[in-house]
Parts: sequence; C-alpha cells; structure tokens
Amino acid sequence: MNKLKLPDSLKDIEVVINRKKIKNIIIKIDDECKIKISLPFGVPNNYVEKIIEKREKWILEIISQKKKIKNNFDENFIYLGKSYQIQINNSMEEFCQLKNGKFYINIQKNSFENRKKLIDKWICENFYDLMIELTMTIGEKIGYTPIKIKFRDMKTRWGSCNSMKKSITYNHQLYKKSIYFIEYVVLHELAHIPYPHHQKTFWEFIEKIMPDWKERKKLGNI
Ligand SMILES: [Zn+2]
Repeated sequence: MNKLKLPDSLKDIEVVINRKKIKNIIIKIDDECKIKISLPFGVPNNYVEKIIEKREKWILEIISQKKKIKNNFDENFIYLGKSYQIQINNSMEEFCQLKNGKFYINIQKNSFENRKKLIDKWICENFYDLMIELTMTIGEKIGYTPIKIKFRDMKTRWGSCNSMKKSITYNHQLYKKSIYFIEYVVLHELAHIPYPHHQKTFWEFIEKIMPDWKERKKLGNI
C-alpha cells in the first residue's frame, strides 16, 4: 500500500505524504488512523522512513487510542468492565440511557462528535458521581479523604494525588474498567494522602487494606 519502507508493526497503516512550502515536518494521525505527514519540498523518502521508525511507539499508541474511542462509540459501549450494545434512536431530545442491558443514544444529528459529546455528558453525570461516592466511602474507612476530586483524560496514568492539597485526579477513561480494578485505583490515590511517594510504607499500607491489590493492579496496564 505504501511506497515507504515501514516497520512491521506499521505495515498496514496508510501514509499520506503532503509536500508543501513549510519549514518543519508535521506528523498527525487522523480519525481514520492514517498517518499524515506534511513536509518541506526536497525531503527524501528515506528521511521520512527514519522519522516514522523513530516515532513508531508513539504512532502505535495514538492509533490504539483512536481505535478504542471509535470502537467504544460504534457498536458497543464499555462501562465498568461490561460491554453494552449501543442502540441509536433518532430523537429531538438528546440524551443517553443505560437500560435493560443496552446503551441508548437518543440523538438528533448522529455524528461521531455528537455521540462523543452525549456519552461524555452521561459519564459526567453517572460515572463521576459513582467515583466521588466510592472515594469518600473508602476514604472514610481508612481515615483519609480528599478535599477535591477531579477528572481528566490522562495518557499514562489512572490517577494522581496531590497530597499537599489533598486533591485526587482520576483518568476519565477509568469508566471502562471493572469496579474491582477501580477500587484499587481509588485506594492507591487515597493512600498517597499520608504517603506521597511509592515508599515501602505506602505499599505496606495498601497490602494491609487490600491484600489482593496485585491481582487488581494487573488489570490496569495502560
Ligand atoms: Zn502512586
């Protein structure tokens, strides 16, 4: 498909090269998971090959993320480790609903962006509340509760804790994971309130409260 010589892992990925009057080389992965490269005139193909090879890991990571998002919004919706068939209804009133084992998206204009917006809203209203409740319940049990709980998309972590500010941030993508794993993330971040680093006492504290933490942690490889 490509005239370029690419690493094996990228062999099936389409590369679109666009030479134009620019100074720097720009690599983007579009929503169709094609690699789009803009480069100045005169840059030879073997140089492009080298750049792609150097960025191989990054490219694969972005593609896998894009695929995950796409899959999650196309046929099935993954929530708390379970897969729900998506049913799209044309509707003036726009909202999502998890009912009778199906995930309903009531939508007026059925585009990827619109679906994502509606699903994110549903996650804010349902998953975020669940996370806050779970964090406070576990926090009260172990004697450390946060002052602030935030959510955002994170690339390499499921959560983080600012122990000085007693502020916990969770990865928005956690909603796909099972409660069994989520409970571990919650405890992990809460344990950072008294133990800011991954010192021995931190892990001893986790072990005491959640003896099966290692099993749970395994489920979360990003
Ligand atoms: Zn940690």
